[in-house]
Amino acid sequence: MTAHAPAALPHGSPTSVELRRVRVDLVEPIVAAHGTESVREVVVVRVVGPDGTSGWGECDALLRPTYTSEWQDGAWAVLRDLLAPAALTGVPHGVVGHPMAVAALETALVDLALRGEGRSLAAALGATSTRVASRAVVGIGPVDDVVAAVARRVESGHRAVKLKIRPGHDVAPLRAVRAAWPDLVLAADANGSYDLAAARDVVRALAALDLHHLEQPLGRGDLLGHAEVRRSAPVPIALDESAVDLDAVATAAALGAVDLVNLKPARLGGPSDSLRMRDLLVERGLTGFCGGMYELGIGRAAALAVAVLPGLDGTADLGPSDAYVRHDITPSIVLGADGTLGVPDGPGLGTEPDPDRLEAATVEHASIR
Ligand code: MG
Repeated sequence: MTAHAPAALPHGSPTSVELRRVRVDLVEPIVAAHGTESVREVVVVRVVGPDGTSGWGECDALLRPTYTSEWQDGAWAVLRDLLAPAALTGVPHGVVGHPMAVAALETALVDLALRGEGRSLAAALGATSTRVASRAVVGIGPVDDVVAAVARRVESGHRAVKLKIRPGHDVAPLRAVRAAWPDLVLAADANGSYDLAAARDVVRALAALDLHHLEQPLGRGDLLGHAEVRRSAPVPIALDESAVDLDAVATAAALGAVDLVNLKPARLGGPSDSLRMRDLLVERGLTGFCGGMYELGIGRAAALAVAVLPGLDGTADLGPSDAYVRHDITPSIVLGADGTLGVPDGPGLGTEPDPDRLEAATVEHASIR
């Protein structure tokens, strides 16, 4: 594949690294084709520079390896035993895989450097706008519950909504939502839950519903199947679980398997790899949008800085903090009346944890020097 110039983000040199497992109750359980989550537990990474400045990152691996193969206990061990020691000595970490752990540490190192320079992450990435349209994601449930959930999101200002779907729970909820809101920007995410025959059937049934995109109908490895679905699909096909790295997206593009990519900075390995992915999409005539991993405030700020990059489509599957948690560890990110979210301004990520909330939410702590 094409060689990509290294993204030029500065990395700070820490003298210590602190890890915290942080647990926050979700406002409501998240139900998707890959499972149900009722608490959000992340690893918060703090790197401290020689002058005492802190840089922050967040590892968004789930508690169990049900979404990708990465999971929190593994990420914790990789961060504590390999990534943090490597960051302290300045040697390449040599870790294969574990992109969410790598992303957390890279975000913290970049945040540390940018706070020292007084520059925001969004500016360092080359962002030209400061706000992005927030697409609310509504989980699987009875059709009446789905319609009620969409109504709450629309009332709070959202103009774009994505429904989680799976076989047997697809056309009916989408049709009900479309009937109630003819102008809503509506998308569907199957999380890879269809086989090829069922995917062909469902895209035909969705033709009249004017969907913005159908995301990941087939399994992550089935790029040939996605190409086949896309050839006959009356709806743009987005890849999420399949869009694990640059090679996968380059292959999908060559096969004609994709229109849009759900670009998740945490899953890609951090801000530098997000920038490389954006460059690849532009080069191949594709577009994309920033996706979410149910981030807490640090991860959400890092994702928002990527979400506003030119070349992406100006929407993001990122919501306001209060759609997920009652008390975030950082100041809340709030939805504007026009359904957009602003990137926190200020140096680096533009946000940091409230010390009391961070302490109250911490369930385990490790310090690496
Ligand atoms: Mg998805």
